[in-house]
Amino acid sequence: MLFVAEPTLGEEEKRALSEVIDQGWITMGERVSRFEREFAEKHEMQDAVAVSSCTAGLHLVMLALGIQPGDEVLVPAMTFAASVNCVLYVGARPVFVDIESLDMPLMSIDDATAKCTEKTKAIILVHYAGYLADRSRWRTFAAERGIVLIEDAAHAAGMVGAGTIGTAGVFSFYGNKNLTTAEGGMVVSEDYHLLERIRQLRAHGLTASTFQRHLNQGITYDVTMLGYNYRMDELRAALGLVQLKNLDTWNKKRRDLSLLYHKILPRDCPEIRIPFYGHPGGSAHHIMPVVLPSDSNRQQVMSKLYGMGIQTTVHYPPAHKLSLYRDLLGPTRLPWTEKFASHELTLPLHPRMTEAQVEQVSEALAEALAQISQQELADG
Ligand SMILES: *Cc1c(COP(=O)(O)O)cnc(C)c1O
Repeated sequence: MLFVAEPTLGEEEKRALSEVIDQGWITMGERVSRFEREFAEKHEMQDAVAVSSCTAGLHLVMLALGIQPGDEVLVPAMTFAASVNCVLYVGARPVFVDIESLDMPLMSIDDATAKCTEKTKAIILVHYAGYLADRSRWRTFAAERGIVLIEDAAHAAGMVGAGTIGTAGVFSFYGNKNLTTAEGGMVVSEDYHLLERIRQLRAHGLTASTFQRHLNQGITYDVTMLGYNYRMDELRAALGLVQLKNLDTWNKKRRDLSLLYHKILPRDCPEIRIPFYGHPGGSAHHIMPVVLPSDSNRQQVMSKLYGMGIQTTVHYPPAHKLSLYRDLLGPTRLPWTEKFASHELTLPLHPRMTEAQVEQVSEALAEALAQISQQELADG
């Protein structure tokens, strides 16, 4: 079975985990600090704060920026639930924004403009599939309105520039992301004070850590803000440090495979659309989305491909249609998001794939589409 995503883990990761166990200190310590420094360096940033997940990081960014009940936060609906939940955690109201088009499924600046009110305090950009949102246009948008830009950079690990467009950016190290620590995340920002607040919020709002006390630095502590336990541990940081060394190579592989898809899909399946086709900007190539013809039955295509040993998936069920958000926020119409979400199909893409497998997926997709249309003709 060829899977949509697979972690790349090996002997080096095993050795790194054994080393932590042999040394005996397993909770947040020097490895976490080193992972923060090296991750920041990789993204050409001054500093970073490691957390237990991207979701936790987004929650802390909301808290540290003082987003609160009564505030509105613009979010795309073409995203994972976490980008919406973090707004609800602090009692603020998420306001869903449409994508630009089927070819450019990133947040629409025109729709964001239309959705802005005097209550809008922040906007969460999602670098969908790893493609960076437009830096200068969004910065101007935010500056003109005095609102804060936050980046959900879950898809963009290793991409220099991700996390530097807004006030803060958060990465995910979940198992299917470009870099994984099984669970984990990282907050980056150029704002030193913001990162210090997030550092304290990550560990119960304590003024000194267990590790500092272990080192006999500061024998007691104070609690000066309501924090959480959103720490990363040494085992995960050890994994992250190994993964980080390979990230550029893996992202280059993702890029090569994506470009190959872009080259051969139009030949094999001229009826499908390829979002970001010829996109000039950078990407971490986290996933490989395509848009099926509007008259095709996606579930049938997915079943056919599965039968041929190829897993596919959907990114994402549109958030504004999910029960919780619809019940809480009322109905919203987002025409492009709805059109995109109903025909998007995510093809396998990960660094362990070969070029031959990309060819195989492209041909299988052509075959599945042909079989289904023949079947439909036969059924009249
Ligand atoms: C994976 C993902 C998240 C959540 O990341 P966790 O580390 O699992 O909390 C948030 N936003 C997007 C866009 C994601 O893809």
